Amino acid sequence: GTPTVGKQVAVIGGGDTAIDSARSALRLGAEEVHIVYRRTRDEMPAHGEEIRAAAHEGVQLHYLMAPREVVVQDGKAVALVCDQMTLGEWDSSGRRRPVKSEDAAPVSLEVDTVIAAIGQRLDRTAVCVGVEGGKVCTDPLTMATALPNVFAAGDATPGPMTAVDAIADGHKAAAAIHSFLSGEPLPAPRIPRKTKVAAEVLAALEAAADEEIPATPAALIADAERTCSFCEVELGYTADMAHREASRCLHCDYVMVEEEA
Ligand SMILES: Cc1cc2nc3c(=O)[nH]c(=O)nc-3n(C[C@H](O)[C@H](O)[C@H](O)COP(=O)(O)OP(=O)(O)OC[C@H]3O[C@@H](n4cnc5c(N)ncnc54)[C@H](O)[C@@H]3O)c2cc1C
Ligand code: SF4
Repeated sequence: GTPTVGKQVAVIGGGDTAIDSARSALRLGAEEVHIVYRRTRDEMPAHGEEIRAAAHEGVQLHYLMAPREVVVQDGKAVALVCDQMTLGEWDSSGRRRPVKSEDAAPVSLEVDTVIAAIGQRLDRTAVCVGVEGGKVCTDPLTMATALPNVFAAGDATPGPMTAVDAIADGHKAAAAIHSFLSGEPLPAPRIPRKTKVAAEVLAALEAAADEEIPATPAALIADAERTCSFCEVELGYTADMAHREASRCLHCDYVMVEEEA
């Protein structure tokens, strides 16, 4: 079913999930949406274009604020109290650690809904296979776990946490399960092909790779329509825009070699 939110929403976190939560809250009818992040915009892991889009839609971003307490009255949230922070020493994530500011008073945001968007972790009680670093250990070629006949893929396993990676892992696991059940050998692992191209094509590609062409922005739906539905905000490309975008070098490191004469 469709989740419900109150009129004043606070989202805790600085990643893409926090931005998605805030923009979704607006679309679900919230009148005021705040994002509370304990570092500054520079350290925010969310994509810049997502942050800009959220701000454009009216999401209020509060930097250097860390949640201290959700104030509850009659079983309902009425405020989120936050400590003001400053940036301290560098930590192992390569970012400066947020530390509580001693001389700034806590800030209270009047909200009736608080959404924590600060990451996810494996539910260890639901997993009976080896776990290391919070992830299910798998053979990277077959996605087999240490438990016979059990395979794992996606966010629960090591590696990037995106839909396309979960699907790729699923493909690997499906092939391995087929081979396991049918007795057929495992398919050879996919190795990036070296595409052979003519010398002049290679030279043109190398020149293109050196040229930094900015991304082509897509047309957007009208501002007034953005937050009253879950319609896609970006309208996509015309054929010309798509050609321009496809001609940009994305530095994918796909290997091209010169054709032998
Ligand atoms: C807000 C948000 C935005 C995202 N945006 C993007 C994006 O734009 N692009 C992108 O590529 N990726 C995005 N991701 C990441 C992407 O959603 C995940 O990487 C992907 O869904 C992982 O797939 P999965 O199958 O491993 O896990 P999931 O899609 O999480 O599926 C796991 C399933 O297992 C079920 N489950 C859990 N525990 C049990 C249990 N004990 N018993 C039975 N079932 C159980 C869950 O209900 C769920 O249906 C986003 C993630 C979030 C949270
Ligand atoms: S996008 Fe990839 S394949 Fe295309 S020119 Fe750039 S590095 Fe080469």
